[in-house]
Amino acid sequence: MIDRNFNKLIPSFMDILSIFNTYKNQNKCIKHLEKVRWNGEIKCVYCGSDRITPVKSELRHKCGACGKSFSVTVGTIYHDTRLPLQKWFLATAIILNAKKGISARELARQIKVNKDTAWRMEMKIREAMQDEEQSKLFSGIVECDECYIGGKKKKGDKKKDDDDNFINPRGRATNKQGVIGVVERATGRVKIQKQDKFKFTDIKAFLEKHLDFGNTHLYTDDFKGYKPFRKLVQHSTVNHSLGEYTRGDVHTNTIEGFWGIFKRAFIGSYHQLSKQYLERYIKECCFKYNNRNNPNMFDLIIKNSVTL
Ligand SMILES: [Zn+2]
Repeated sequence: MIDRNFNKLIPSFMDILSIFNTYKNQNKCIKHLEKVRWNGEIKCVYCGSDRITPVKSELRHKCGACGKSFSVTVGTIYHDTRLPLQKWFLATAIILNAKKGISARELARQIKVNKDTAWRMEMKIREAMQDEEQSKLFSGIVECDECYIGGKKKKGDKKKDDDDNFINPRGRATNKQGVIGVVERATGRVKIQKQDKFKFTDIKAFLEKHLDFGNTHLYTDDFKGYKPFRKLVQHSTVNHSLGEYTRGDVHTNTIEGFWGIFKRAFIGSYHQLSKQYLERYIKECCFKYNNRNNPNMFDLIIKNSVTL
């Protein structure tokens, strides 16, 4: 079944053909990266000098101060790559288009590189999945909740497993991996992380990293790990255990909606997902979700790729 929120994740597909045509050769890609990185004022990547001369017939530059030569890819995610940059640009667009995430094997097939190369490219491109907002603390109404993913399906227990997809099995399914998350109501942004323990102190460590406690009204359900927070922060709860899911605007429906997308979009066959890949999916999923209304996701990644 397609989740009704499924398409919210990526509002518009990257137009792969236009990226292919715009960045059709190495020269075009280099020129674009140079414009993004230096905007016409090339500076030595080693000493910062602007006494730069082009190296003839190569897309490189020589520094008049330190004598070193360099290209725009030095110190970026493309550093030392032997692949045409066009493949990197296409890989970026393909990854952004992949609603369920894309395996290294599949990316390898699409851009004709070997699987290990594709895997490294995916890792590098994820490094560039950052935006300015993500370091800001959340405030105002913030929903916090946790979910569990993975774990082995028991034979003949399909129904239970499907139910677990929707209901937090809190503590009862020990073979599942916990994930904790917050959503800021005003911006609709999320932050999530892999979480193994859900005691108050564990949850507190996560929330302290991401919330401005003095200016936050925290909404959670009535799980006992959240109870002590009323001493630290304005805190309201809905009593899921009593069947209460909303009380006025007190609810955790936004973060729960996100879990639905997170599970279905990125972990379609989640019971087979290795835990070690989870961090990568988390980063990619959060970036895509938080930039779901940003038509310039591709440009943002290219900019990050040479400026971070
Ligand atoms: Zn220099």
